[in-house]
Amino acid sequence: MRKDGALKKVLLQACDRYEQKRLKDFFAKGFQTLGLPIDKKAVLLKPNLLSGKPPEKAVTTHPEFIRALAEILLEHGCRITIGDSPGYESTKKVLNNSCIMDVIKYFGLNISPFNRKILKKLDGISPYRQFTLGEDPGDYDLVINLPKLKTHTMMGLTLGVKNTFGFIHAFEKARWHLRAGKDRMLFASTLIDIHTIVNPHLTILDGILGMDGDGPSNGRPRQLGVLAMSTSAFILDDAIEKLVRPHYPLPVTTLAKEHGLIESYETVAYSTPVINDFRMPDTVMDTDWSIPQPVKTLLKNTFVKKPKIIRAACKQCGICVKVCPAKALSIRQHEAPLFDYKKCIRCYCCQEMCPEGAIKI
Ligand code: SF4
Ligand code: SF4
Repeated sequence: MRKDGALKKVLLQACDRYEQKRLKDFFAKGFQTLGLPIDKKAVLLKPNLLSGKPPEKAVTTHPEFIRALAEILLEHGCRITIGDSPGYESTKKVLNNSCIMDVIKYFGLNISPFNRKILKKLDGISPYRQFTLGEDPGDYDLVINLPKLKTHTMMGLTLGVKNTFGFIHAFEKARWHLRAGKDRMLFASTLIDIHTIVNPHLTILDGILGMDGDGPSNGRPRQLGVLAMSTSAFILDDAIEKLVRPHYPLPVTTLAKEHGLIESYETVAYSTPVINDFRMPDTVMDTDWSIPQPVKTLLKNTFVKKPKIIRAACKQCGICVKVCPAKALSIRQHEAPLFDYKKCIRCYCCQEMCPEGAIKI
């Protein structure tokens, strides 16, 4: 959490569509309320660019959300770069398919593919001390984190803290899933450390069109009608989890509280968003949280849900095999992949990345 600001506020607003004026009003009010100067800055925008899906699929931060923000920043003389490291496609391909490229071309923004190798060290809360980032947040005056409100089969939700995992390059991400992904709390501690290194100045959540069910890519796109903004993603995540429920608090928020990253904060609601019947992923709903994680990891075939392939939906593209960090999937020509459940660590990357939604938990 950035410690230089005395303000600990989360701003919330109900908003049911991507209307430029409404979005720009929210952003302008937010910058003012949070006391964040934005004049003539070198700005890095970090949206969620998980995979190249059109905006109505609710996988990526919405292009109209980015358009409104870019317009305000440009009016204040900022230079804008936009970047992320997607799951398995190139950054440009995801920008094209998500229609964010139209905004980039319209305003002449820069693109960063997050493919550098920047070594960062941190004595944080995870057992790990070194992280290699694909872009250096220190090269920018202002880093703005732009998560989408979505469910996540492993972590429950993907919000502000999880969104900065995108600073890790795609191939490195698989390595982190293998090292930390067998234990949700261990993975949460790793996400918190990476977020602490990135230390964005601001997090703005696109929760107008979000996703529930088995997200973050194959869940149910849903009109959720929420905008949120804070200088602390920990606080923002906490406020959104409370709105969404159930199973509050989830692993990232639980650990953030334990480590003093979420203290008391003020919620400023310009209007109050209401989210009803939010469907969490099955992996979270059926989880018995009273069973300690080491026991679950040891007896994973009993306690932790398995991924399975819907053969009729599988196009044999091999992406799941490529992204599996544990090499627990194999594929033969003209056949759907096979799982080796002894090797599988239940990170659900295969379910997350399957472009056909052919893997269910
Ligand atoms: S399950 Fe999905 S990702 Fe895997 S080969 Fe089939 S279509 Fe591709
Ligand atoms: S098979 Fe799927 S859930 Fe299992 S380790 Fe591989 S990517 Fe993770």
